[in-house]
Amino acid sequence: MYDLFAGSQALRYSYLMSKSNTLDKHPQLDPAGLVGGLVYHDGLFNDARMNVSLALTAMKNGANVLNYMEVKQILKNPEGKSKGVRVEDKETGEEYLVAADAVISATGPYSDLLLSMDKSATGLPEPEILNKPKMVVPSGGVHIVLPEWYCAKDMGLLDASTSDGRVMFFLPWQGKVLAGTTDVPLNKVPENPLATEVEIDDILKELQHYVKFKVRREDVLSAWCGVRPLVRDPSQIPDDEQPGSGSTQEHT
Ligand SMILES: Cc1cc2nc3c(=O)[nH]c(=O)nc-3n(C[C@H](O)[C@H](O)[C@H](O)COP(=O)(O)OP(=O)(O)OC[C@H]3O[C@@H](n4cnc5c(N)ncnc54)[C@H](O)[C@@H]3O)c2cc1C
Repeated sequence: MYDLFAGSQALRYSYLMSKSNTLDKHPQLDPAGLVGGLVYHDGLFNDARMNVSLALTAMKNGANVLNYMEVKQILKNPEGKSKGVRVEDKETGEEYLVAADAVISATGPYSDLLLSMDKSATGLPEPEILNKPKMVVPSGGVHIVLPEWYCAKDMGLLDASTSDGRVMFFLPWQGKVLAGTTDVPLNKVPENPLATEVEIDDILKELQHYVKFKVRREDVLSAWCGVRPLVRDPSQIPDDEQPGSGSTQEHT
């Protein structure tokens, strides 16, 4: 299907590997039950580096880039149009007013908070919105980093249909191996998402199905949790979660 959709723009075409070729390429795999491999090609990028180069490019083109500056309020003109933002420097606690012709929110899982500022006449957020997100619902995803022997250096492994129905992968990453993931629906957007021991253990248990050696907790070099901003169709939001209902207060 990848090749079909990519057509002439395919990075490279897919091919099947016999069981013995798969084991040559991935000697860490448990041969029991292994039938073979299907190789396909996909893109990968370093999100942290991409973010830094984006910020540097913007600066090179005349932008002022501010980090640790949280938007607390959208400032409005008498017609209710946004004319800037009030921000707080998270390092010093000082507040600043920033004038703007347009305000663009690219706040991922926090989009509902910014949308509530946009909707409110005062530009202040609905305080409870992150405990009851409306349009962008959060899902926690944990990744772990393992030593290099968990995967070949130039080819990752992905199982799209694991014992509990999720996608598992091992990917060569910065000389080590990135493995995951979990997909846990959250009922609120956490301020500092953390990978729990239960989630790390869950990933390790699932990974054990693939490799022939013992997966050990002490092999985990680092672990973190990210929040996926999954978009929900506003017309499908249940009545009790509609704006103005329940305990949350809606500014109009
Ligand atoms: C575990 C996991 C795996 C994923 N895997 C994939 C994948 O394989 N492929 C894929 O395409 N996508 C994947 N995603 C999704 C992808 O990472 C996100 O969709 C993407 O990062 C969203 O980008 P964004 O710029 O919209 O938001 P974010 O990257 O979340 O950025 C939002 C920014 O807004 C800032 N912010 C929030 N509120 C305020 C405020 N009040 N004032 C100032 N700043 C604020 C935040 O600090 C943050 O820096 C994955 C996500 C997770 C968590």
